[in-house]
Amino acid sequence: DSITGSIKNAVNKIRHKDDVASLKKAITELKKSLLKADVHHKTTKELVTNVELETKAAGIGQDSFLNALKSELTKLLTTEGNQGFVFSSTPPTTILMTGLQGSGKTTTTGKLANYLKTRKKKVLVAACDLQRLAAVEQLKQIAAQIEVDIYFDDNEKDPVKIAKAAQEKATKELYDVLLIDTAGRLAIDEELMAQLKNVKDAVNPDEIFYVADSLTGHDATKTATSFKEQIGIDGVVLSKYDGDTKGGVALSIAHQVGVPLRFIGIGEKMPDIEVFIPDRIVSRLLGLGDIEGLAEKTSAVIDEKKAKEVTKKIKKGQFNFNDFLDQLAMMSKLGSMKSILGMIPGLSGMTGALKDMDFENSSEIRSIKAMIGSMTPKERENPDLMNPSRKKRIAKGSGLSEVQVNKILKQFKNASKMAKKLSSKGGMKGLQNMMS
Ligand code: GDP
Ligand code: MG
Repeated sequence: DSITGSIKNAVNKIRHKDDVASLKKAITELKKSLLKADVHHKTTKELVTNVELETKAAGIGQDSFLNALKSELTKLLTTEGNQGFVFSSTPPTTILMTGLQGSGKTTTTGKLANYLKTRKKKVLVAACDLQRLAAVEQLKQIAAQIEVDIYFDDNEKDPVKIAKAAQEKATKELYDVLLIDTAGRLAIDEELMAQLKNVKDAVNPDEIFYVADSLTGHDATKTATSFKEQIGIDGVVLSKYDGDTKGGVALSIAHQVGVPLRFIGIGEKMPDIEVFIPDRIVSRLLGLGDIEGLAEKTSAVIDEKKAKEVTKKIKKGQFNFNDFLDQLAMMSKLGSMKSILGMIPGLSGMTGALKDMDFENSSEIRSIKAMIGSMTPKERENPDLMNPSRKKRIAKGSGLSEVQVNKILKQFKNASKMAKKLSSKGGMKGLQNMMS
């Protein structure tokens, strides 16, 4: 069960106004769910004590309980230090990525690079993990995918030299940010720490990020603490927060380690990263959504000019297959369906059921893409050109049956008709009218 669900259960225990016994039940439930979610026991005890006192002071009720919980959780998540990404006054801002093997360093390096690129920054990533054979190749693939420059040197065996050379390139070629991916080990060892220290001394990074795997629970906190003691860290990035994590690590890691949580990774795809903003996360944990976060995410990704053009086309009934592919590409930039749903008030509870839904790779979308792939440019521009012989050719080329092609074409036609109707009736209002 998700932490959001158990918190809801706790809130629901309070049935009557000013009922002390029901508050006790709610507090017991809350405590149990926090502990079960891997929140540190000391943290839990402190938190529930405060929630109980605050609720009583405000007058027992579901609202006052929720408010107290919200304010205590926010307090817990607020650690002194930087939030999100902070740029140095003398570019390039150099960030050293650290963490254990498999924690998500390379993926997070790519996600951060993509995040910054979307915000119009010139980014260079450096491949300094020479421990694993495939590590450099992995970063190369990620860099190519997100179209960000990478520095690597297949003939160099010393990560310190590569980091240094990457920084020289970033300085000379006026990059805004340099992200240095490094090697990890399965457990902390002296060699790993010594190598990291050497890289750190060579490039003097503006910040050191520690990537913690949220699936490792309490261990994530322990390891982060020892990295902090041995090389110093300025921020934690919590990866895999989308997985079967119990969620509690996010609530205690910053507080326990004494370093702010800066970003959270919420999926395997490049857009699946978010700035960690305490009150927004709390709002999501409580199932209240995060409209601000959603608006920010969409505005960074959606090209307004293009969106307006598409709306115009829809209104004229000219929406074609190329427009459809554009829309799909835009959707995929938003990241996983699950991460988006969690931000919509009232829908965050649904994310469990939709956990594995992969819109882009669903069989429907794959079939549509295959079909469009077998069309001529003219056919893509003008869906009305379709006739039996063209359909036959497209079916053959795409590996779909003629029945499938017919079905998709019909769906597409209906969808554009519907969209046209809606847009002429005035967007969302039209939709509401049709549904009521
Ligand atoms: P590294 O060894 O620290 O560089 O770890 P990698 O970046 O290679 O990641 C290890 C695995 O974790 C890969 O399969 C990634 O796709 C996966 N991964 C990383 N971050 C996330 C995340 O936020 N969510 C999910 N579901 N998987 C992730
Ligand atoms: Mg790696």
